[in-house]
Amino acid sequence: MNPFAWHRAALERLLADRARLPHALLVHGPAGIGKVEFAHALAASILCESPLQGLACGKCPSCHWFSQGNHPDYREIVPEAAQDDEAGEGDAEPAKPEKAKSVVIKIDQVRAVADFIALSTHRAGYRVLVVHPAEAMNPGAANALLKTLEEPPPSTLIVLVSDRPARLLPTIRSRCRILALAVPPRDASLAWLREQGVGAPEAALAAAGGAPLAALEQSQAGEAELQRRLLAELAKPSGADALTFAATVDRESVERFIHWMQTWVHDLARVRLDGEPRHHGHLAQPLRARAKSADLEALFALDRELAEARALAAHPLNPRLLAEHLLMSYNRATSAHRP
Ligand SMILES: [Zn+2]
Repeated sequence: MNPFAWHRAALERLLADRARLPHALLVHGPAGIGKVEFAHALAASILCESPLQGLACGKCPSCHWFSQGNHPDYREIVPEAAQDDEAGEGDAEPAKPEKAKSVVIKIDQVRAVADFIALSTHRAGYRVLVVHPAEAMNPGAANALLKTLEEPPPSTLIVLVSDRPARLLPTIRSRCRILALAVPPRDASLAWLREQGVGAPEAALAAAGGAPLAALEQSQAGEAELQRRLLAELAKPSGADALTFAATVDRESVERFIHWMQTWVHDLARVRLDGEPRHHGHLAQPLRARAKSADLEALFALDRELAEARALAAHPLNPRLLAEHLLMSYNRATSAHRP
């Protein structure tokens, strides 16, 4: 539960004087900068049994429980819709149609932690409750929490996390110490996005208004969309529409375009050799259909061409023309001998 590099200083400041920790803390700031992760790192550090420079050591029993998600002195309240629904996964029975999950935090959820708040702590230390997004509390939930904030139990830290603190009850806000987290420094965000394997971090960060987690999420969504569109194009029985598709490939996406094309061509060659697809098993049918009319030698040549193109992809002269050329090579390689 390490904090993001851009939050370390704020976290250390907060933890420098443990005797003066507030009963309640409202962490707010723009969406997508890692406020929930900040709250988690804060909780882990407070619960840690041998903190290093105030921060969670990552090694003690308490840190272990926290990272496993079952620390007895930690609770988290989130809307039902945001809860990980892992139960039932792998179940052979078909999923029953579920009721739409609630996006608000309900009074029952706040009441359910009343015992947790009232009882003594398991580890004779602190106990931490994180609520996010705090503005999702409905009026009943907010009032129930307010009662707890009005009579703060000892050795308890309640952390509210919010993108929109103005939507909280003023009476709740006034009982919290306010901690505003800003958009992180650009360099720190870019370094982190590169670590996450984001292809064009500058563009992704700019598109997300400087919020690194939002940038990662959007870039992953864009990546999934590119992959889906490209594979659908390559699977077409009549061949890819090279001109139209290439017009959608730009400097930012060309490297990923080549990458996904490589995985498809590899699978095609494997299937052509009576093997199983390695990358796109869910597309085995269209792969088999395309493999029937593919020329193995031409696929290998295309694979070499793709590898060369990928080496140049960081600075292609013209991404659209490159994509067009590769798609035309693909069409030739896969229409060699129609059945
Ligand atoms: Zn620890």
